Amino acid sequence: MKNCSTLIRGTVFTMDGARRVYSDGFVAVDEDRIVGVGPADECNYASRDEIGGDGHLIFPGLVNVHSHLVQGCIRGMAEGTTFMERLFGFYYPMTGACDEERSYDSAMPPLLDMVRRGVTTTADDHFTHVHKRSIDGVLAAVRDSGMRCRMARLTLNDKDAVPDGFREDLDTGLAETERVKSAWEDDRITVTASTIGISYCEPEQLKALWQWTIDNDRQFDIHAPAIMDTKFLAQRRGWEGGSFEWLDQEGMLGPNLISAHSQNLRPGEAELIRDRGAAIALVPDMEQVLGLVSFDARQFLDNDVTCGLGLDGPVVAYGHDLWTALRSFLTAQRLGDEHRRRSSNADISWTGDEVLYGSAEQALELATIGGAKALMMDDRIGSLEAGKDADLLVIDRGGETHLSPPAALIPNLVYGNGPNTDAIRRVMIGGQTVVEDGEHVSVDRREAVQRSDRLQDTLLDEVDARRFVRMRSRYSWL
Ligand SMILES: [Zn+2]
Repeated sequence: MKNCSTLIRGTVFTMDGARRVYSDGFVAVDEDRIVGVGPADECNYASRDEIGGDGHLIFPGLVNVHSHLVQGCIRGMAEGTTFMERLFGFYYPMTGACDEERSYDSAMPPLLDMVRRGVTTTADDHFTHVHKRSIDGVLAAVRDSGMRCRMARLTLNDKDAVPDGFREDLDTGLAETERVKSAWEDDRITVTASTIGISYCEPEQLKALWQWTIDNDRQFDIHAPAIMDTKFLAQRRGWEGGSFEWLDQEGMLGPNLISAHSQNLRPGEAELIRDRGAAIALVPDMEQVLGLVSFDARQFLDNDVTCGLGLDGPVVAYGHDLWTALRSFLTAQRLGDEHRRRSSNADISWTGDEVLYGSAEQALELATIGGAKALMMDDRIGSLEAGKDADLLVIDRGGETHLSPPAALIPNLVYGNGPNTDAIRRVMIGGQTVVEDGEHVSVDRREAVQRSDRLQDTLLDEVDARRFVRMRSRYSWL
């Protein structure tokens, strides 16, 4: 028998290449690594910290590939507002007013939402640098949460796309990226450069940001197509093609590029993305909340494009719940398929012989190994295999009425929006326990709520944004 620091018993969903599931299995963790995975009768490990057993489910930690955590202070306020009302009315003003301490308080609740339900890695795109140390506040909250994070520091300077105070020249943007990189990078946090989308700065500046990511062996993370692309690409650059076609023409569409949303593409762009080896951060829950019936992940998945699932910022990512995104990936795709069938006047009569596209198993793959690949971290995370970092989630199914009986366990878990927090026996990141019996081991969530409530109250007055609270409400608020 070999000793290890933690031994976990239960049903092991490895997400390895063969997608092995050990119905009665074990995961042995030593220090920060997984040292053994397999069927229980082959377990030759012992540990003083042994958990799990009958009715326990062990998954790799989930990976969120898209977010803007500083938006915690405007959580859900998109409801009842137009895009321009929220963008310039409270979105830029409130997040821009966040200094280091405020950004910490703003980011902590969505971080706790994620980690307490088994998300162990998040990507983040930070672009509000009115206070240069705002990004440091988000990263301090990330570090206290224990999560892994691939942080992108976005430099913006387009005069029509963003308000005064948010624009930076390229030298400042890159110098600050270097500063944040040397201040924060460690085993769990990496920092890269980018911008929001290809029309948020001049082409040569975009190229310089991209070049920085090549020189530093980092990921280049953008939104494409971004909201302003159609208008600005045609108006200013005389470009009538698509955002990905433009990126390719400029030599930037390659394996280190990850693009968020990426819907409403031109014919052939999905194949172009596949040929260049770029990755896609699908954001199905937000697309569905916004009613985007044209959502299409199949154009990528059927072409073997690497995809992960992301949430986007809390202003529209209600609950900051990646389990919801797993379900939304399936429902949004099926609604999109139906929409396309109806608009092409194809035969839409249901015969009962069809199996719907996609599966709960596939959604779970996208949220684990898929997300790890999309963030170029699959050599370390995304599956339960010996040698990988010990990022995992242990669920006690014993009291989970919505997961009983178990014949359709994965569909019930995915369409049922995941486990309840009190069923989360443990979340480990790099072998370290960060959540135990549903509670974060070091961050007090009640205090996080108080601080975030107070912050929002202050900001609403400070930037005159109270007029957007409950805008167009049907209720009489007395
Ligand atoms: Zn976004």
